[in-house]
Amino acid sequence: MNKIYYFDHAATTAVNEEVLKTMLPYFSYSFGNPSSAYTIGRRNKMAIDLARQRIAKVINAQPKEIYFTSCGSESDNLAIKGVTYANTRRKKHIITTKIEHHAVLNTCKTLEEEGIEITYLNVDKEGKISLEELENAISDDTILISIMTANNEIGTIEPIKKIGNIARTHKVLFHTDAVQAIGNIEIDVEEMNIDLLSMSAHKFYGPKGVGALYVKNGIEFKQIQDGGHQEKGKRAGTENVAGIVGMGKAIEIAYKNIKEHNKKLIELREYCIEKLQSKIQNMKINGSMTDRLPGNINISFPGEDSTELLLKLDERGICTSAGSACNTGQATPSHVLMAIGLNNEQAEGTLRITLGRENTKEEIDYLIDSIVEII
Ligand SMILES: *Cc1c(COP(=O)(O)O)cnc(C)c1O
Repeated sequence: MNKIYYFDHAATTAVNEEVLKTMLPYFSYSFGNPSSAYTIGRRNKMAIDLARQRIAKVINAQPKEIYFTSCGSESDNLAIKGVTYANTRRKKHIITTKIEHHAVLNTCKTLEEEGIEITYLNVDKEGKISLEELENAISDDTILISIMTANNEIGTIEPIKKIGNIARTHKVLFHTDAVQAIGNIEIDVEEMNIDLLSMSAHKFYGPKGVGALYVKNGIEFKQIQDGGHQEKGKRAGTENVAGIVGMGKAIEIAYKNIKEHNKKLIELREYCIEKLQSKIQNMKINGSMTDRLPGNINISFPGEDSTELLLKLDERGICTSAGSACNTGQATPSHVLMAIGLNNEQAEGTLRITLGRENTKEEIDYLIDSIVEII
């Protein structure tokens, strides 16, 4: 196979070799069901609990506040539907934003059909919400605020600590979809006043098909999948032991040298942006230049068709994304790009490049030369 130039780390990442090694026994001889009473079962329950500890430690939570799920989307569903269905005071209002991932947006849409009122906050040109608009939207009927930590398309990081403070002041629960943030930026659920937080292993060099939800101790939420008593009755189904073990290892590795990794990523990002700007006149960088995920570059090339650009880059072995992986193939322009005020022409010419830990300067040179040639 020819070399792959991978610049789509916001879509998914490759499993780290050490993570894979840690997982392998759980596909073969360590196959016991964690709910079984005999040794090879109990041992796997301990392996799961070690992963729970590792995840909790990174976000400054307690292990019992971590619930394993099958993915980031399920964590978002469980968080939002879970607290809504558990809300016994019959409150009827949720606040979210226009730029959430579809796992949050479509969950809210379903709840809307069930009679819950949803406020979709606007964002500014950089993709940031207004704290004032948030505070004004809160009423006695508000159950939950759900605002993503960092956006998957434009990389903008929201003012999470301030949002958490507002939620706490008004005694409203605060959920954050941190699927893009975990593994990339440091998060402390206590300091940031976060009540619920979603994450997904495949976004930080862990396996696909495993996620986690943090729920602050004492917060009631209803399970959305009925069955056995796994995850303290909050998420039925025999645990994905290998996946969970891999997730625990992956998060530990991701945060081990996070400051150095991010410094390198930001240098690569700035190198890429500057070089592109020097070669292409008509382009626009989207998102915030200060509060931004280290590896995210989102650029509009007005007049270009990003789907065509994507395919031509693919012919050269380069993986990038038009807006967001979830939107690729859809005819409608990205809801995120519309929300930050791009016109159709700009949105249609938008390319997302997301760098990861294995990318090199040489790879970026090849990417830029290819973009320049194609355009
Ligand atoms: C990838 C992603 C999700 C979905 O996670 P899955 O594990 O793929 O279901 C949710 N939210 C954001 C912000 C994401 O980037």
